[in-house]
Amino acid sequence: MIYLDHSATTPVDQRVVEAMAPYWTEMYGNPSSVYGLGRRSAAALEDARRTVARLLNAQPAEIVFTSCGTESDNLAIRGVALAAAAKSRRHLITTPIEHHAVLHTMADLVERFDFEVTHIPVDRSGLVDPADVRAAIRPDTALISVMTANNEVGTIEPIAEIGAIARQFGVPFHTDAVQAAASLSLDVEALQVDLLALSAHKFHGPKGVGLLYIRKGTRLGPVQTGGSQERGRRAGTENVPYIVGMARALELSAMDRPAESARLLALRERLLAGILSRIPDVELTGHRERRLPGHLSLIVRGVEVQSLLIALDLAGIAASSGSACASGAPTPSGVLRAMGYAPNEALGALRLTLGRSNSEADIDTVLELLPELVRKVRGA
Ligand code: PLP
Repeated sequence: MIYLDHSATTPVDQRVVEAMAPYWTEMYGNPSSVYGLGRRSAAALEDARRTVARLLNAQPAEIVFTSCGTESDNLAIRGVALAAAAKSRRHLITTPIEHHAVLHTMADLVERFDFEVTHIPVDRSGLVDPADVRAAIRPDTALISVMTANNEVGTIEPIAEIGAIARQFGVPFHTDAVQAAASLSLDVEALQVDLLALSAHKFHGPKGVGLLYIRKGTRLGPVQTGGSQERGRRAGTENVPYIVGMARALELSAMDRPAESARLLALRERLLAGILSRIPDVELTGHRERRLPGHLSLIVRGVEVQSLLIALDLAGIAASSGSACASGAPTPSGVLRAMGYAPNEALGALRLTLGRSNSEADIDTVLELLPELVRKVRGA
């Protein structure tokens, strides 16, 4: 199989599996227990916290471990919004191209807690204009949330510029960096963010573990209450093996990043050039340059993408139509609609996302098979 869906998830690195192994059956203590077995788990947990903090240029106390990217986004948005509501600040700013973890969380705050949301526009390439963020800020703005890189079209947003504006106005700034961690270096100081969400399964760690960076001094209440784990910000016994695995995965990802990003960029350009020269009526979506290196998103006109995905699957190629969560339902992508594409154009969205397992030979195979599959689906 040729796996071209690294934005949906990635295989766990063997070195990550090895790092996790002792924490299932040998060092299984509860990190809150006082005896040696528990203390060893606590030490592993704090070691993982120091590692991810160093890689993000943060302080260990600013890292909260969660169960996934979705939970990290929820904790950032609900945690800050509900703390701000106590001070009568109920206005949120975001973009229409965020993941549902952000959009649906804000919609819930509107519906049940009387918040108001401003969705700032994006241009045809999916890019946010920082001036629009500045113009949307009000005295009662509680939070700004703009993703680091988009999952459907790969566009990388001007986070540092938006961060500078947020700081100037004293508004907390959250970024969903879930898609970015595999290929971009993330420095919370350079990005000027107050909250940053990650999910391990996007960078060769296990599914079901994530983290939220919370800048010291950010007013945030807990969403999940119970024990005093994670300094009272996220109750529940910590998932020690997965957290150890996530820290190792982020470390490996940071080590390999410069060489791997350059390799993926070259492969993507070869794939793009090959597709554009072999298949008529195809358009690149997202920004031409400001995009994740392994990310290719296209509109294939005159194609019902679900049929193309099935044909690709039968040919041994795993691809997607955009976000994995939306696959299966033939509704046009809200991201592409917000970028100005018509609903029938958006239904032709194809996403091919490259990663560690892909080689030049994979690209050649795809370029050999895809034109014929598109021709067949168009003719059907
Ligand atoms: N945010 C973005 C941009 C994503 O792409 C995803 C997953 O696809 C998530 C959040 C959710 O992460 P998780 O699957 O860990 O809940």
